[in-house]
Amino acid sequence: MTASTRHDLFINGEWKKPDSGKWIEIRSPATGEKLGEAARGDKEDVDAAVAAAKKAFPAWRDTPASKRADALYRLRDLVARDKEKLATIITSEMGKPLKEAREEVDFAIGLLRFATENTRRLQGEIIPGERPNEKILIDRVPHGVIGAIAAWNFPLALCARKIAPAIAAGNTIVLKPHELTPLSGLALAKLVAEAEIPAGVVNIVTGDGPEVGVPLVTHPDTKLITMTGSTPAGKKIMAAAAEHLKEVRLELGGKAPFIVMEDADLDKAVEAAVVARFGNAGQVCTSNERTYVHEAIYDSFAEKLRSRINALKVGDPMDPSTDMGPKVSEDELKKVDDIVKKAASQGAKIEIGGQRLTGGLYNKGSFYAPTLITGVTHEMDIARNEVFGPVLSLLKVRDFDEALERANDCRYGLSAYLFTKDLARILRMTKELNFGEVYVNREGGEEPQGFHHGYGDSGLGGEDGQHGLEAYVDTKTIYLNA
Ligand code: NAD
Repeated sequence: MTASTRHDLFINGEWKKPDSGKWIEIRSPATGEKLGEAARGDKEDVDAAVAAAKKAFPAWRDTPASKRADALYRLRDLVARDKEKLATIITSEMGKPLKEAREEVDFAIGLLRFATENTRRLQGEIIPGERPNEKILIDRVPHGVIGAIAAWNFPLALCARKIAPAIAAGNTIVLKPHELTPLSGLALAKLVAEAEIPAGVVNIVTGDGPEVGVPLVTHPDTKLITMTGSTPAGKKIMAAAAEHLKEVRLELGGKAPFIVMEDADLDKAVEAAVVARFGNAGQVCTSNERTYVHEAIYDSFAEKLRSRINALKVGDPMDPSTDMGPKVSEDELKKVDDIVKKAASQGAKIEIGGQRLTGGLYNKGSFYAPTLITGVTHEMDIARNEVFGPVLSLLKVRDFDEALERANDCRYGLSAYLFTKDLARILRMTKELNFGEVYVNREGGEEPQGFHHGYGDSGLGGEDGQHGLEAYVDTKTIYLNA
């Protein structure tokens, strides 16, 4: 790939120039260097892609589940073969350290594997009917064409997370990667072609939200919309889909509480708090967004935390010793910096970092210092709104009751963390902590067989595992008589 490489749209198994004749420059957030150009798709391109997906649907739906699985296995093997190449693309366009990009490729492989292993487990039901010899069948049928929209923070895995279950279940798909990071999704499209997945089953249209996302959501032939991204965009998508009474699955923002009780394994909790906050430069929906620490261990926790944060190495994401790369873009960096400044103006104390990094290689990219903020109160904006950056807010709590109350007083409900050895607290948490995914005594990181699902402003629907796969089929009830 060179700076002059232009990446076409992938429609009906072919590479096509965009209808608009326009292109989007893709730049490395670490070096500012141009990586290439992606097609700026528009409504005409969406129409062509949806038409291709619609045409491909009957034959793909009728392909035996085992044969669909074979195709997905081929894709999985190709992703595994190209692991290093894909990881390099992820790091170049998104900025996460190469070691994390490799983990992302492994996650994509795991998602492909789970979908593949379960194409034959989309089982229906048989219920006795009221008439003699009648049987009522509840069958599982694919929806048809899926419209999928991805965020930039896991540019490969989020595409795999949508493509794998959608096509495993017999649907066809039109996917829009994020406009900042389309190269990973396009690299995946090349492997889709190499895996000989039939033309039109997977289509990729690059471009932005208004020009590609909106027509995809409102197209009469997209039957289900699955989107990963911010809460405001998710709400707009839901409103647009409502016009057509279209089913939506929305994986949106988070504000994960990270609760550490006085009986926790302190070293383990500090390590997990750091990984869950500074991994991917804090740009993860499951990131530790507010760390609630029991007052009895607050000082020792804070001391360990300071030395761990001070040791983080920020730099070239291709360097194996780098712990944290740049923010994905200048806009995202500014957003985080504004949140930090506001916290300071509201009385919080910036103990470490709190500004962009400058000098040397930092001048070329969008690097933000790993930041520790103390003296945060529950009422401050930083404790209530998603930061999505490398900024750890530390809050002191009196006891478990207060931790639960603070954690739950939040409009988001995706992930939460709890560190304690007390089984009674853990059991209480299962009922009283209002989040769709809770990590107990460990750092974050979903697994393909789990179910990644948020409440409230974190979205609706959920992804992964058997529940996630079943989202891609509808039911059909058949009253069967001779
Ligand atoms: P974003 O909302 O800016 O963009 C997400 C996608 O939606 C992009 O492809 C964008 O082009 C598209 N889009 C935007 N407006 C649209 C519209 N009106 N109609 C159709 N499409 C539209 O989000 P982002 O900045 O890419 O991602 C960051 C957010 O994603 C964070 O809030 C993060 O928490 C969330 N996220 C959630 C999960 C999850 O699984 N819950 C995973 C990753 C990221």
